[in-house]
Amino acid sequence: MNVILLGPPGAGKGTQAQRLRENYGLMHLSTGDMLRHEIDKQTDLGLSIKEVMSKGGLVDDETVIGMIATVLEGPEARVGIILDGFPRTERQAIALDLMLKKRKVAIDHVIEIKVDDEALVKRISGRYMCKAKNCGASYNDFFKKPAVDGVCDVCGGSEFMRRPDDTEEAVRTRLKKYYHETMPIVPYYLEKGLLREVNGMLGIDKVTEQINALIEG
Ligand SMILES: [Zn+2]
Repeated sequence: MNVILLGPPGAGKGTQAQRLRENYGLMHLSTGDMLRHEIDKQTDLGLSIKEVMSKGGLVDDETVIGMIATVLEGPEARVGIILDGFPRTERQAIALDLMLKKRKVAIDHVIEIKVDDEALVKRISGRYMCKAKNCGASYNDFFKKPAVDGVCDVCGGSEFMRRPDDTEEAVRTRLKKYYHETMPIVPYYLEKGLLREVNGMLGIDKVTEQINALIEG
């Protein structure tokens, strides 16, 4: 079984991919991770990828298709794969179909984890944590404030911290980038009747249930 997972950063795609791996024995292929791994190895390819990514650009089709092809030839991909971050263009989607066809398989499901953008912005830009070493309790400006303002419910600490890239502006930029990158492949999979949606605003377990129902249904 081969699955493409779509969803913006913050929708819990990583967690769901991990569960698909555990539940169905699928191999998780995140092109983001694969590209970073190539950069870490400091190969010639890695260096050229680094240059493109540092300018905020997208790595060219050949490079990404080549990386995926190498993995597909290996034994680990035999049971099936979860693709995350690939394909991003119709050309990549067509190349993927050809690679799978050689192995006599195909994409079975394209699952989009749908989110409510405004709620996601609040969920991420509102989150902060207790700074105390052994606590780390999490809070949110919109959904979960401490009972006493400025005092941690769990440890009584009064220092909190936020991740630097959790600002509203940064979240909106990440969302915009996601929609921009995903748009080109939506018509391709819609036409094939493979694209399905799950509601990503429910709890993690509920999202998993919806995904499992789609796969097994
Ligand atoms: Zn605390």
